[in-house]
Parts: sequence; structure tokens; C-alpha cells
Amino acid sequence: MNVSTHRIDLLKIIRLPLQAVILGLSLANGGLLAQTLPVSSNLINFNSAEGEELLMESQSRQDYLPLSIQFITQKNQAYCGVASSVMVLNAIAIPAPEAPEFGQYHVFTQDNFFNAQTQQVIAPEVVARQGLTLEQLGNLLESYSVKAEVHHGGDVTLDEFRNLVSKNLQEPGNFVLVNYLRKAIGQETGGHISPVAAYNEETDRFLILDVSRYKYPPVWVKAEELWKAMATVDSVSGKTRGFVLVSAQQS
Ligand code: CA
Repeated sequence: MNVSTHRIDLLKIIRLPLQAVILGLSLANGGLLAQTLPVSSNLINFNSAEGEELLMESQSRQDYLPLSIQFITQKNQAYCGVASSVMVLNAIAIPAPEAPEFGQYHVFTQDNFFNAQTQQVIAPEVVARQGLTLEQLGNLLESYSVKAEVHHGGDVTLDEFRNLVSKNLQEPGNFVLVNYLRKAIGQETGGHISPVAAYNEETDRFLILDVSRYKYPPVWVKAEELWKAMATVDSVSGKTRGFVLVSAQQS
């Protein structure tokens, strides 16, 4: 055995137990690596060659860049509406409050989003327990200097939904938040809120920048499937879910 062979053998001996330890830890913790859930076959993972191509071909992707710059992960499992609102408020670029953790810099965060005005709508403790209904989402946004136009899924036709949202996605300075039932688009499982960033005309799909980034990647979903997922009833409000068009207030 020469020296180099001996070194390789030694490395093998060291590596093997280490791999076993890593595997053991992974199994014990249900996986140590960040790993999102599988994307069902009706959806297209944005993080794929096809997903990228749909964005390149999109004629309605004005909101993609400003939203992607502000893309955040919801800080707990009920804060999808809060994280989505924070993204949009930062993207619209209205004056932001202080964020103590960032010194003199002002930016919307999931902590400073709640203030005396939002308290009139709903308390953060309640949101942390049950999330937001579509109306609460609209009212929270309007406690800031933005206009939030709420549309319930049960009140719009597929054509109206597609037209309103794709038009917004062609315009700068306004944004779309969608409230849908995950189960209806092949995801796990309950009500969810996230921004919509683009529309692909050829495949009739919308790109959702899912704020539960620990759970799913952004996906392209068929307009009809998203529309049906919005026309589901939220048991908290007793009304259908839907979407909110958010824009800067006209002065
Ligand atoms: Ca827009």
C-alpha cells in the first residue's frame, strides 16, 4: 500500500461513519435539509426550465421584479396574509415605519406591520391563531395609505377574474393578492394568501409567489383552477375567498 492509497482508505473510514451519522440525524428529524413538498402534476414549478420559460414568454409580468425583490417567508403558519401585505407595501413604496432591528432604516416587516390603526381591524394575536379573511386583509391594507379593492371568488366569472388580474399584472405600481384554498389546486391543504406576480397568456397560467417558502416553491397555476380555488367558502367569514387589487391612493 503506498501513501496515497493509504490516505484514501483513511478518508473512506472517516467518511462512512459521518455519512451514517448525517443519515441518522436526518431520519430522526424528518430531514435536516430545507425541503419543500412535491409539486402536483397540474402545477408547474417556477424553479424549473419550463417555469422560467413561462415567465420569459409572459406579456403580463410588470409586477414580477418589484415583488421578487421584496419576496419574504411568512414568519409563522398563520401569517401568509401579513407577509403578502408586507411585500406589497414595500413594493408600492409608500412611507414605511421604523424597524428597530435595522437601525435608522425604514421598511415594512411582519412585526411593525401591526400598529394602532391595524388594531382597529384585528389584533396580531388573533391573526396568529386563525389567519386573515379576505375582508380583513383588505381592511388591514386600507389602514395604510393604499387602496384595496376586494373581489370575492363567488362574485366574478372566470373571464372577469382573468381580465382584472392580468391587466393589473401589466401595470406598474399596483399589485394582486390572492386568497385561495390550497386543496383545490392540489396542495396541502387549507386557505392561503400570496401575491400573484405574472400571467402567461399561452398557457393561461398565473404565477403565485408562495410566501410559505418552507413548504412550496412558487408555482404556475391554471387560471381556471385558481378561480375555482378562490370560489371556496372561508368558514371564518362564511363568504368565498377571492383576490385584492392593491394600489397607491389617488391624491
Ligand atoms: Ca401591477
